[in-house]
Amino acid sequence: MINNKNMKRTKIVATLGPASSSPEVIEGMIKAGADVCRINFSHGAYDKVEEQIKTIREINKKLGTHTAILADLQGPKLRIGVVENNHVELVDGKEVIITTVECMGTAERLYITYPQFPKDVRVGENILIDDGKLLLETVSTNGTDEVRAIVRHGGILSSKKGVNLPNTKVSLPCLTEKDLKDLDFALRQKVDWIGLSFVRSAADIIELKHLIKNFDPNIRSRVVAKIEKPEAILDIDNIIRETDALMVARGDLGVEVPMQEVPVLQKMMVKKCLEHSKPVIIATQMMESMITNISPSRAEVNDVANSVMDGADAVMLSGETSVGNHPIKVVEAMTKIIDHVEANSDIYNRDSEAPEVDLRNERFLSDSICFTAAKMAQRTKAAAVVTMTHSGYTAFKLASHRPKADIFVFTDNYDILTTLNLVWGVRGFYYDKNISTDHTIADIKHILKKSGMVKINDLVINIASIPLSEMGKANMIKLSAVE
Ligand code: PGA
Ligand code: MN
Repeated sequence: MINNKNMKRTKIVATLGPASSSPEVIEGMIKAGADVCRINFSHGAYDKVEEQIKTIREINKKLGTHTAILADLQGPKLRIGVVENNHVELVDGKEVIITTVECMGTAERLYITYPQFPKDVRVGENILIDDGKLLLETVSTNGTDEVRAIVRHGGILSSKKGVNLPNTKVSLPCLTEKDLKDLDFALRQKVDWIGLSFVRSAADIIELKHLIKNFDPNIRSRVVAKIEKPEAILDIDNIIRETDALMVARGDLGVEVPMQEVPVLQKMMVKKCLEHSKPVIIATQMMESMITNISPSRAEVNDVANSVMDGADAVMLSGETSVGNHPIKVVEAMTKIIDHVEANSDIYNRDSEAPEVDLRNERFLSDSICFTAAKMAQRTKAAAVVTMTHSGYTAFKLASHRPKADIFVFTDNYDILTTLNLVWGVRGFYYDKNISTDHTIADIKHILKKSGMVKINDLVINIASIPLSEMGKANMIKLSAVE
């Protein structure tokens, strides 16, 4: 069953693609433990995406699941154009002209989808192509439409490969024309999360949020900042403050910064996100070998396990589920790894000390309630912490304390159920009765008991806002046993 007592806490994001577009495969992945489906707008036509979104929502209805949808905008991603025969060899030491005038690419001349490139690039800066497999160094630029580069590390280049310019200050806007169209489509589809690639500073997040608000002030779509540029690392505190969630996008990050820096950066970002109660996703190459193989490499098992131990809210699959041979098996394998770590490693109750109390903060009351509820759950070995929320705020907050007790969220806001499916440990229930606090707490305990989530004599901690009818911020904790 999908919503059972022994569900894993760490969530799985599965990227959809040709290997995972059919209702059968999507349902298989959800049953195997996928909590969020990512739709990558780098590929895929709108009618196909619309179909996938419909499928996910139908499966949710059928299974009673709350699978979230993450729409991933490609942002200022740079690419080389089409190349001759889809196969061009760049030879070490040879010169190549990179032009902003569209042309069929050859070993001597390549088109780049970045009009300001000759203006922005400086002599000596590196040009990395195809995830850093090919390395060129800038020799000169005419400042308008041509850059000369020398091949430092050559190889075979096929069409439309990505380009990374780790040292260049890219002057493109954070949302391209294509992103604006994709965003409009995603918002119309009412997706739960919008991912923004190549975030450079908190201003990018502020701008995206502004666009979302302008589209519809009541919209609930939230933002995932994808961290894959060195500039973003420098502005990480502000980005975490402005965003709703973060993705450690190791694919591009590992090309943009020296690869050996990525593990330390991952740990730094997870720690900061936990401190700010912002969900954090670890992404890329987690189970890469399962694109073809039926089991992961030992190093991949370790990578997933260590990300769970770091404190990630979610781990992500990209090519493994979008184009891989075993989209369902890879989710199953990931679930097994997560289950084992969660049962055998002390990843719970992460903050031993109470966070600084800021009495002027308007969230002070609910923050204190959440912290105390998590502490109380630890001391009393409570089976569950139950919160009632309209905005989802207490769910994010509670989860960030990583209680060992289950986190059950009851809400009358159907949309928040899918949003919260990305968040560590959170299991949501729709509930729209509000007679009185006493009645509701008793009723909810009854529901949890009936569905096997708690049993007689289990201790349960309830968080609520009294009086209930005002739907205010959490201001009450109740500890009681299941009867
Ligand atoms: P992408 O982002 O798969 O959209 O490139 C993830 C990453 O770069 O790691
Ligand atoms: Mn990326």
